[in-house]
Amino acid sequence: MKKLVVGNWKLNPQTVAEAIDLAQATDIEGAVLCPPDIFLMEVGGAIKQAILGAQDLFWKDGAAVTGEASAIQLKDIGVSYVIVGHSSRREKLAETDTLVNLKVKAALTAGLKAILCIGENLDIHQQGEATVRTFIGEQLRKDLDEVKQGENLIVAYEPIWAISTSGTGLVDTPEEAVTIISFIKEELLKIGLSMVLVIYGGSVNSKTADGFLKENIIDGVLVGAASLDAHEFKQIISLS
Ligand code: PEP
Repeated sequence: MKKLVVGNWKLNPQTVAEAIDLAQATDIEGAVLCPPDIFLMEVGGAIKQAILGAQDLFWKDGAAVTGEASAIQLKDIGVSYVIVGHSSRREKLAETDTLVNLKVKAALTAGLKAILCIGENLDIHQQGEATVRTFIGEQLRKDLDEVKQGENLIVAYEPIWAISTSGTGLVDTPEEAVTIISFIKEELLKIGLSMVLVIYGGSVNSKTADGFLKENIIDGVLVGAASLDAHEFKQIISLS
């Protein structure tokens, strides 16, 4: 079975023409493309094999909140996956576990597949594996509170310090990722969630992807910077 390869474009590219070009160039089965909301309709119209994903959602339909998009609205325009709780939102927009939990539940209720991003920062990482496990375990329990079904849930383990834009210059190894992803899978079972896919994200590119993708326990990759380079992203998909 092919593994999941998710491209998180963040605030890129700058024009709709570039977004359509990138979508067409990476329109391959097994890929989930997550453009900015402003390009969702055009990217959705440009792809035939890839699947459309969004980068975030608001948790309440029809709310009096400015500038957001709800699960029902995303679903209505053809979105199948939605990223929730990305570290950039937790850090730059002060998104809390409580909010992330509401978003996961809203996505699942609307029939979207939720890609929940979790992971420790550099400070926690440097305190050692036991501290990382405690942090990840707590994050999972808070973010998945009251979530009863795992089949439309994907957890993306993204150690913040290994994300290309984190500025640390550090990368995770497949061996370290396997250790934490095994722990995540055990914790998910403990909280009653089976069938959850767990993918890895953090500076994955065409040279490093194989190391992660060939590990049985890793169900795919979440790719940031390298998803903006069609050649790179296509190579990653070919390894999945
Ligand atoms: C991300 O931002 O989710 C990510 C994994 O980015 P990158 O691949 O650039 O590290």
